[in-house]
Amino acid sequence: MQLRKFSMRAGDEPGSAGERNQAEAEVMRVLHLGGGEGGTLRVLCLGAHSDDIEIGCGGTLLSMISENPAMEVHWVVFSAEGARAEEAQNGAEAVLKGAARSVVEVLDHRDGFFPFRGTEIKEWFEALKTRFDPDLILTHWDGDRHQDHRLLSELTWNTFRNHLILEYEVPKYDGDLGNPNVFVPLSEEVRDRKIQLLMDTFSTQREKSWFSPETFLALMRLRGIECASPSGFAEGFHARKLTLSPGPVSRGAEGP
Ligand SMILES: [Zn+2]
Repeated sequence: MQLRKFSMRAGDEPGSAGERNQAEAEVMRVLHLGGGEGGTLRVLCLGAHSDDIEIGCGGTLLSMISENPAMEVHWVVFSAEGARAEEAQNGAEAVLKGAARSVVEVLDHRDGFFPFRGTEIKEWFEALKTRFDPDLILTHWDGDRHQDHRLLSELTWNTFRNHLILEYEVPKYDGDLGNPNVFVPLSEEVRDRKIQLLMDTFSTQREKSWFSPETFLALMRLRGIECASPSGFAEGFHARKLTLSPGPVSRGAEGP
């Protein structure tokens, strides 16, 4: 298997070193996410339930799609039936509007029972690997206390051995939020679009006490503090391992 190479470049800071240092004191310096081979950024989004991807990384995806016109996205929701399946489809389409190419798959695995259908779900993962080769994978965090979320995180790592994987977070009753170590600052416009999209799309979830604009705003605000986001808002991710290339993709070393 070929190692997925991922190019990142440091921000082009104008001005002198002194000016740059002053700027850094207020805003954290960032690395930009470039495209993969051929300039196309291929992103795989995995979510157990109909709203997980939008909650965990909706703002990041909205920002990335507006910055990467050549982005290709493969989006999978593993458990959604009836009205929730329709919401899953609508949510994906709302986020993915503007992506060069996107595929949305909505599956009907039984909610809450993923660990007991592990064989079936693992076989599905193995098949997915032959259909899509991503530069970046956004999936659930392995420290998540929801059993469905946790299994998908585990199978993501089992299946995609040489890929860049970032694990997103989902606030919930279980109180399992951790300390993310990767942040994507969001503009105020993207922050508002994400919240609007969640509230407009997932009407079946609105009666749940936690599903509110305040919840989503609060978590993005906390993550914004942790990365000194210029807008004050961000999404956080867990990165278990990252391989960085010191130069452009064409000059990078092949994997083992
Ligand atoms: Zn979920």
